[in-house]
Amino acid sequence: MLIVQKFGGSSVADAEKVRRVAGIIAESYDAGHDMVVVLSAQGDTTDDLLDKAAEINPRPSKRELDMLLSTGEQISIALMAMCLEKMHYPVVSLTGWQIGMRTNSQYGNARIYSISTERIRAELDKRRIVIIAGFQGVNKMEDVTTLGRGGSDTTAVAIAAALHADRCQIFTDVEGVYTADPRKVPGARKLDEITYDEMLELASMGAQVLHNRSVEMAKRYGVNLEVLSSYVRKPGTKVKEVVKQMEEMKISGIAKDHNVARLAVVGVPDEPGRAFRIFRALANKKINVDIILQSYGKNNTNDVSFTVAEDDMEEAKETLLEAQEAIGFDHIDVTTDVCKVSIVGAGMVRSSGIAATMFEALSDAKINIQMISTSEIKVSVLIKDVYADLAVKAIHQKFFGA
Ligand code: ADP
Ligand code: ASP
Ligand code: MG
Repeated sequence: MLIVQKFGGSSVADAEKVRRVAGIIAESYDAGHDMVVVLSAQGDTTDDLLDKAAEINPRPSKRELDMLLSTGEQISIALMAMCLEKMHYPVVSLTGWQIGMRTNSQYGNARIYSISTERIRAELDKRRIVIIAGFQGVNKMEDVTTLGRGGSDTTAVAIAAALHADRCQIFTDVEGVYTADPRKVPGARKLDEITYDEMLELASMGAQVLHNRSVEMAKRYGVNLEVLSSYVRKPGTKVKEVVKQMEEMKISGIAKDHNVARLAVVGVPDEPGRAFRIFRALANKKINVDIILQSYGKNNTNDVSFTVAEDDMEEAKETLLEAQEAIGFDHIDVTTDVCKVSIVGAGMVRSSGIAATMFEALSDAKINIQMISTSEIKVSVLIKDVYADLAVKAIHQKFFGA
């Protein structure tokens, strides 16, 4: 079998952990498998590099920032290769450039175009273990790019897809995907299986256990994906197209996202075309809008509120102020002390009252809901961010009794 294994930052944080992971890789290699391994930077290295950059220049260019951030992964792969060498395994470490990981030029959040599999195949043919730096690629100028925080998962899935690997295993510091973050909700349950669609919603709504683009790609290419622990040797969570429901689960999980800001465009004339002008202006700047709410204001005007990622908040505000005359609003209110809490579950389409149960949990906990949005398999609410953990616990208790 051809197996792609990815190990996150905490799994390779120090020498002892590198040795433990090398043991897992060696075990699979000894079983006769072709092994491709993707690594993240050790521990908090990426955050530390960001701090280092800020000390020198608080607003560095994104190109130079990527040049710096990509170094973390290079340290990990070299150390892992050295560890396996010491154990007498044939091994080679490769950077994104060396495997032809081509991306667009969006530094800090680059999209993968293609991977040239030649080098990897040649190394595998020599029965070498191939260790690849996650999170990084190169653009058409041959400059280094990075795929966005948590992007090593996406590297692993992209390589698994390109090589038609039999399995893609994401090893991390928890035993799989849970009904909520197990570090925040002690009663959270591990899921044996979850669908690509549910996992994509959970990841997009803030469950950091998988990078959302890795799930999108796994679905598109039908990658056989599993999330499992690098500490405890037992089956994790399989992410796949359809799952067999052992018991009727109304929802699969709860996620929260603090990277949210709410903008309220106040005093928009109640006429056709005004909402269009607001959201076209934002779309032209590639700013993603999530929950939208329109309510009646005074004197034939509406207030249009919506959420964007907090990182996009300044740009969204500037963009709308530039278009103030065309849109015709009075002013903009901005809030960042908000958080989005979401429940996700494919079972929602089949049962009624799921949203009501979520709102009941929030009502019991005396948490006020500012905005609501729903899709076929998701309900999200916007609440004050200080109540985020309390809300997740209360909702979990209501649905899972723990
Ligand atoms: P890695 O460094 O291995 O990439 P991450 O920190 O990116 O690990 O992701 C693993 C973390 O995701 C866990 O430690 C856990 O706290 C968090 N997490 C959030 N939501 C969930 C969830 N629903 N199931 C499992 N883990 C979750
Ligand atoms: N090292 C990068 C980060 O911390 C990528 C990753 O870990 O997946 O975001
Ligand atoms: Mg991660």
